[in-house]
Amino acid sequence: MKWEENVRKAVPYVAGEQPNRPNMIKLNTNECPYPPAPGVARLAAQLDIDALRLYPDSDAMSLTKVLAEYYGVKPEQVFVGVGSDDVLAMAFMTFFNSGKPVLFPDVTYSFYDVWAELYRIPYRMCALDENWHIRPEDYRQPNGGVIFPNPNAPTGLAESLDLVEEILQANRDVVVIVDEAYVDFGGVSALPLLEKYDNLLVVQTFSKSRAMAGLRIGFCIGSEKMISYLKDVKFSFNSYTMNYPSQVLGVEAVRDDAYFKETTGKIVRTRERVKGELRELGFTFPDSAANFIFAKHDTIPAERIFRALRERDIYVRHWNKPRISEYLRITVGTDQEMDALIAFLRDFIRG
Ligand code: PMP
Repeated sequence: MKWEENVRKAVPYVAGEQPNRPNMIKLNTNECPYPPAPGVARLAAQLDIDALRLYPDSDAMSLTKVLAEYYGVKPEQVFVGVGSDDVLAMAFMTFFNSGKPVLFPDVTYSFYDVWAELYRIPYRMCALDENWHIRPEDYRQPNGGVIFPNPNAPTGLAESLDLVEEILQANRDVVVIVDEAYVDFGGVSALPLLEKYDNLLVVQTFSKSRAMAGLRIGFCIGSEKMISYLKDVKFSFNSYTMNYPSQVLGVEAVRDDAYFKETTGKIVRTRERVKGELRELGFTFPDSAANFIFAKHDTIPAERIFRALRERDIYVRHWNKPRISEYLRITVGTDQEMDALIAFLRDFIRG
C-alpha cells in the first residue's frame, strides 16, 4: 500500500511482562517490593476529585519545587515527566541534533537505541570492558552527545564520580546525560558536578526507590538553560503530561525521607544477603549497586533457569542478546520473595 511508504517505522522497546497471577513472585521489572510512603495512601484517599475536571498544572510546580528543595537546586533546574522514559525521550529529541553519533554502552538500557532509531539520531555503542565497566577512553571520539546509566542496567555496576567527570571533561561541547534510575541503591549521584558542567543532565525516577512505577513520575536536573530548552520542546509536544494525582502524591513521597531511606536500606540489605546465597549456588555477577542482580550460572544455561522459574510463577528477566544471553536479571524483592527464589534455585540446581 502506497501510504505505508510514508509511515514512521519503529521497532518498539520491549518492556518486561506484567503478568497478574495470584501468587506470582515478580522480579522482572525492578519495581520496589514495598508500598509507597504511608502518606501517599492517606493523600490518595483524600484526593480532590473535583480537581480532575481541570487540566493539571502544566509545570507541575509543587512537585518541581519540592524536588528542587530536596536536591538543593533552583526550581528552574528541574524538569518533571511521565516516568524517566518520558524525560529521556524528550531529552533525546531536544539535545541530540548534531547529526554526529550519540555514544552509549553496548550493554545498557535497551530503550536508548530505540529512541535513537525513532528520531533518526545516529548512534554508536561503546563496548563495556570484560568486567562490565565503562571504558572512559571510548568517549573521547567525536560525537553528538553521550548517555549512560549509573549504576548501569542491566549489569547493576556503578561507576565512580571520577569516571563520570572524566567523560564530562572530554565532552564539553555536547550534552552528557547520566541516567540515575538506580542511584538510590548505592550509586554516587553526578548532581554535585552540575556546578561545574552546564552540559550535564541528571535523570532520576520515582519508579524504583520511591515505589511509584504506577504513577509514572520521572525528573531531571540540569543547568537552567538546558531545562528551559527541554521545556520548550515539551510544551511543543504536550502541555499537560503529568496528571494531577501524580503531582500531589509525588510531593508526599519526597517529603517522607525517613521512609525512603528505610525502604532503600532494606532493599540494599536484602541484595547483599542474596548475593552471598547466589554465590553459594554457583552464580557469578557484577557487584550490583542497584535493586537487581545480573547473574550467570557456572553450568546451567540462563534460558533453562528462566523457564523453570517462570513455570513456578517466579518472573525474572532474560535477553537473547549478544554478550548477555547467559545472564538473568533478578530484581531484589522482599526477604520472603528472595527466600522463595533461593529455595527454588537450590532444588533446581542441586536436585
Ligand atoms: N532508565 C533505566 C536505566 C531503566 O532501567 C528504566 C526502567 N525501565 C528507566 C530509565 C525508566 O523508568 P521509568 O520510566 O519508570 O522512570
